[in-house]
Amino acid sequence: MSKYRTDSLFETEQADETACHHIIRVAFETAADREFDYLVPDEIWPMQVGQRVETPFGKNNKPQIGFCVDTTSPRPAPSIPLRSAQDDRRPFKLKKISRVIDKEPLLNSELMELARWISSYYVCPLGQVLAAMVPGAVKKAAGVRTQRCVYLTISHGEIEDTIKQLRGKKQKQIVNFLQGRGAFSTETAIGSQEVLEAAGCTNEPIKKLAEKQIVKIAEKTILKSLPAIPKGMAIKTDGRIILNEDQQRALTHFKNQIDLRQFGVTLLHGVTDSGKTELYIRAIELVLKKGRGAIVLLPEIALTAQTVQRFSARFEKIAVMHSGLTASQRNAQWQKIKAGQADVVIGARSAVFAPLPGIGLIIVDEEHEPSYKQDTAPRYNGRDVAIKRAQLANSHCILGSATPSLETLSNCQSKQYFSLVRLPKRVMDLPMPEMKLVDLRSSWGTQKGINLISEPLAERLKEVLTKKEQAILLLNRRGYSNFVFCPSCKHTLHCRNCDVTLTFHKSKTFSGEQMPTITGKHLRHGYAICHYCLSQTLVPEKCPVCGAGFAMIGLGSQRLEEELARRFPEARTSRVDSDSMRGRDYYRVLKDFSDGRIDILAGTQMLAKGLHFPNVTLVGIISADTSLYLPDFRANERTFQLISQVAGRAGRSAKKGTVFVQTFLPDQPAIQFALRGNFDSFVKEELKHRKACNLPPFWRLAAIVMRDRNFDKLEAVCKKMREKIDRIIECDGLNVVVRGPMPAVISRIQRFHRMQIIIQAPQAETIQQLFTSLRATGPVRPKVMVAVDIDPVNLL
Ligand code: ADP
Ligand code: ZN
Repeated sequence: MSKYRTDSLFETEQADETACHHIIRVAFETAADREFDYLVPDEIWPMQVGQRVETPFGKNNKPQIGFCVDTTSPRPAPSIPLRSAQDDRRPFKLKKISRVIDKEPLLNSELMELARWISSYYVCPLGQVLAAMVPGAVKKAAGVRTQRCVYLTISHGEIEDTIKQLRGKKQKQIVNFLQGRGAFSTETAIGSQEVLEAAGCTNEPIKKLAEKQIVKIAEKTILKSLPAIPKGMAIKTDGRIILNEDQQRALTHFKNQIDLRQFGVTLLHGVTDSGKTELYIRAIELVLKKGRGAIVLLPEIALTAQTVQRFSARFEKIAVMHSGLTASQRNAQWQKIKAGQADVVIGARSAVFAPLPGIGLIIVDEEHEPSYKQDTAPRYNGRDVAIKRAQLANSHCILGSATPSLETLSNCQSKQYFSLVRLPKRVMDLPMPEMKLVDLRSSWGTQKGINLISEPLAERLKEVLTKKEQAILLLNRRGYSNFVFCPSCKHTLHCRNCDVTLTFHKSKTFSGEQMPTITGKHLRHGYAICHYCLSQTLVPEKCPVCGAGFAMIGLGSQRLEEELARRFPEARTSRVDSDSMRGRDYYRVLKDFSDGRIDILAGTQMLAKGLHFPNVTLVGIISADTSLYLPDFRANERTFQLISQVAGRAGRSAKKGTVFVQTFLPDQPAIQFALRGNFDSFVKEELKHRKACNLPPFWRLAAIVMRDRNFDKLEAVCKKMREKIDRIIECDGLNVVVRGPMPAVISRIQRFHRMQIIIQAPQAETIQQLFTSLRATGPVRPKVMVAVDIDPVNLL
């Protein structure tokens, strides 16, 4: 049998049993920043880019799985010893791949190109990028089962005669049933269980039919999973909404852009409740009419049943991708998208990699959200990857936000393919909620003990409860207290592994299970938890240093919950933060709140995003300052965003809303501008500062964070890294400012010391050039962990 294809490039080559006339390049998920060439035996050829292969790897030939990233590597002449692609000096025998894993490539050429861009832009090995682009559930084939199934091996024409010749009644019934269902091949085969149930018989008749070669029994792989879109929670649709003037104008703009079939980006800057989501839906409708599909990205926590329902009420072929799904659901959704059975994909950050063919539109809602940035390699920003993907697909990209990032605003000014559309008013001309400032400096002096809820806020809360309306209280801190502190010797409990103070959580462990209480004072019935490494310890009753009793200082959402129970015992309250909420519970609480079974929802910033509850008339921000204390140049921006976002939760109906902003820093500009809802002035003020400091959006940033358990070694390697960078800057003549090495903001995590080098440059290209050169020089030695973060959103 011929093992080579006549149309292959190598048709003239002699092929023997072990002939390997093809070379592919493989990228592995290891941190090694290079790819490897392998031989492919003729019987496996042809191979496609995007398929995974198993190969022997390293000295011990350990089996390893990688992606085929190139099939066009030149085949060396037989007389010349083979060399590895990267190493031209040493003759090197190429190894043979062991097997191909995927029948079909997991990634098409568009996604491969995107992967290469991410690898280069975000300074991440290609194999690692590819591994991140395909969900683990897909790679593991979650939910895939083999099922016995049956199909007819005879043709339509032969059926009548065959049935006549059959004696068994059940056998006749089975043939009829299979014919009725058109089961004439493995693809159309019917599960044998279903056949048996339909014919009401045992296995025997099928066996007989198989012996007579009338049917064939085969194994078929099927994907079993529960539906990913919650049923039975249908939301009231608003009928056919008539767009207001601003929305109409925006839609016309989108229509023009979509008709162009060209790459472009629109920033849809609309205050909360201005009808942005409705516009997304209309824009998608336009795209579907053109026979193309759309991806909608939302911050993970905004992917509530509410939003998913809202889209699925309007679109039929919809797929969802978020962390609330089981592995088999995730696999099923991905396969559905890849098979072209979905034309709208709605999901969190990684949905930007959805294998949707024929993209016409990508929407990124809440584009300013830092959660679009992935904090492990590849450290990509979902929003920026969305823009790149839209560019590769020649399609439009809509970025939506009530408080756009300064980066996006400045792109609107400076980039030709960016346009800006505004929705300045809430739909139906609802008034913006009333904003009230509570100066905690004065109120704390007059109150006894620690009260998180000030008197004015408490008054209003009472009123809300009497009127049977609802309230949201936000405290941007998890746990009960920020730190456990000894008032007499000033000792605070620190994490053993990290350079952070521990947070006190009452009586439950981090994973939520109830722990046995320890005897002693109430406050110590709990655990001290590190939010960086998740280690937890019991809190000693007495300070280990001086023996005095501990105090719990600071504010946490758990403490708020307790205060609510004490001061408003009649209210039905619930806490939402990532400690008390695990996946589906979160969706359930939101449902209870929306159905009016909860009066007060208290929690962390999870509550600030995208929720829509018409009966909420009061929002209280317990401490507007917490984000101001972040050691990050975006602290002001985050504070402004947070206040505006939370405020947007109030008064989303004809009932008037009030927002209470409690603060110790009432004069802080970010707080003042947010109170007045004055986004433009805030931006103007903030930009002055950014410009003066060469910070984004004017300059670009990159951070190199290096870590190791041995501090001296780390310091030495960091110095070497800095020298290397300086040499490249000098050789290439780059306009770059380098700072550090200096300790990172959190100088130790999980016993690893952390140091960083910050790179600033006026152009993204300059940073690219620097890292391309740096990558080419190979890793610094001795080995330490190095993480490169391009366009960081948090400096930790
Ligand atoms: P955003 O995404 O900007 O917060 P939404 O699109 O969610 O705003 O709109 C808020 C609410 O107003 C939704 O219930 C939506 O159905 C409704 N809505 C949107 N546009 C209109 C309109 N033109 N007329 C009436 N209701 C509208
Ligand atoms: Zn820790």
